[in-house]
Order: sequence, then structure tokens, then C-alpha cells
Amino acid sequence: MLRQRTIKTAVHAIGVGVHSAKKVRMTLRPAGENTGILFTRTDSLKACALKATAHNVCDTTLSTTISHKDLRVSTVEHLMSALWGLGIDNLIVELSSEEVPIMDGSAAPFIYLINTVGVVEQAAAKKYIRIKNEVTVRNGDSFATLKPFAGFKAGYTFVADHPVYNRYPKRAELDFSKASYVDHVSRARSFGLMNELEQAQRMNKCLGSSLENAVGVNDFNVVNPEGLRYNDEFAKHKLLDAIGDLYLLGSPIIGAFNGYKSGHAMNNQLARKLLETQDAFEMVTLNGRDREVVRPILQPASAG
Ligand SMILES: [Zn+2]
Repeated sequence: MLRQRTIKTAVHAIGVGVHSAKKVRMTLRPAGENTGILFTRTDSLKACALKATAHNVCDTTLSTTISHKDLRVSTVEHLMSALWGLGIDNLIVELSSEEVPIMDGSAAPFIYLINTVGVVEQAAAKKYIRIKNEVTVRNGDSFATLKPFAGFKAGYTFVADHPVYNRYPKRAELDFSKASYVDHVSRARSFGLMNELEQAQRMNKCLGSSLENAVGVNDFNVVNPEGLRYNDEFAKHKLLDAIGDLYLLGSPIIGAFNGYKSGHAMNNQLARKLLETQDAFEMVTLNGRDREVVRPILQPASAG
């Protein structure tokens, strides 16, 4: 039987919120079986917790924000993506402010942080969402879809007609029984055009954004002196986002994701539509032969 996982001991990080530019202290704490991923705010007077679920998503403008009653947490997607990558089911995420720290704009610092304390298996069986029938959401020519597949694979096509973006691959597709999320996806950073950034900052968004936590693109080049981490870093970051947004389903997916020009809003619409479509999925636990089939994807070696 594949079992649920949490972290061995608490671990801390300090960073800034990419939208608020506020300094934030984050503490990850182990959580009991069947807890899920819970967010708490140490700056909130009310000692309540906010569960990371697709139904708690309240805003998808430039990042994914969850809220319940008056508790609100923004920019959860890169942390959620890292938690999927390490197979973490149960965790308390304590924040001193409204936003998960952006770190370097990718999921890699969260992976590193968790690996410093290690992951521990719990007694209860891990639950997976197995896709039984295709579910698709569309908006104009954009779409996001989940289909049945024995394992987990994800593909994304990033379409933006811009001379710099046009120099790099538009499509990233990985079968996670063959490719490691930690090696091939987790390091892909957020990105954007420098003039889009100025526009966002006029709307009081991206106030903490810099070349330390994003790839900046001007009319001619990638602005960051270090260049890109992967040749297809743009498409891979969109894949990283989708994996994090879909992990708000509460369990890892057994199936195939495909996105075309989709973003946080469509990822959330897809998650909600899946949950509303009774014959589209079933909750399963894995053992015996299944375990061998999906082991490389669903029990990453780096989490041991
Ligand atoms: Zn992102």
C-alpha cells in the first residue's frame, strides 16, 4: 500500500510576497493523516485554518489565491506544485502575512527546504484521483483537459507571438514515470515581459517582483544575466503552475493533463468541473501491481 506523507519536523523560510512585496515568515509543520494541506496566518487574530482546496480558490489574477471566511492566502501554486512533487499529503503551512514567499519564482526552494528535514510516511493509505473519463474546459481557443492515463503525464503549449518567446520551445510534455519533476520542472521560474510588469505594478500587483524571482523579457532578449534554466523554461513554468493548481484537488491525479494557452483561472475551472462530474473520476488507493506501475511517478526517490 502506498501511504500518506508529511514532513519529519518543522522547517522555516523567510521571503517576500511577489504581489504585496511584504516580508513573510513561513513555517511548514508536520500534520496528521487525512489533514490535507492547511494554511494558517500568525498575523490573524482568529486562530482558524484554511484548507487548500479547489473550492476555496477566490482569485486567479496573476496567481492563485484561496480564502475561507476572512482568512486569505495568495500565491499558493508554486508551493502546492512542490508538495505534489514530493508526494506530501498532510502539512500545516503557517504564514506571517497574506502571501506564500515567492523565493526564486520556482518550486525548487520549497523542495530544497523540505528535503533538509525529510519526508515521513504515515499509516493511512494515500488517496489518488483516477481520471475515468475526459473532462475539458474551454475559453475561446484556450483549453485545459484531463484524460485517463495509467500514471501521470502533463503537457502545456505556451502561445505568445513575441520575438523572444518565439525563440524557445512552445511546448513542454513530460511523462513523470520517465522524467523527474524535481530535475525537469521544479526549477522553472515565473516570467513576464518587462512592460507587462510595469502595467501590473500600476495595478498594485507584482510589487515584490524582480529578476531575483522571475525571468524578465524585453523586446529583444531575456534580461536576466544568468539566462534561462531550461531551454523550455517558459512552457515548463506553466506546467509547474498547472500541477500546483490541480493539487488543490486534494490528491494527486492518475491521468493526463493537457493545457493550451490556459492559466490559473482555467486550471481552477478544470478542477471544479472534474469534481462536479461524478463519472469522470474515482478515488483509489494503490497496492500490489499498481504500486510497481506508478512507483516512479507517485513515490519520487528524492523524497525518501
Ligand atoms: Zn507560476
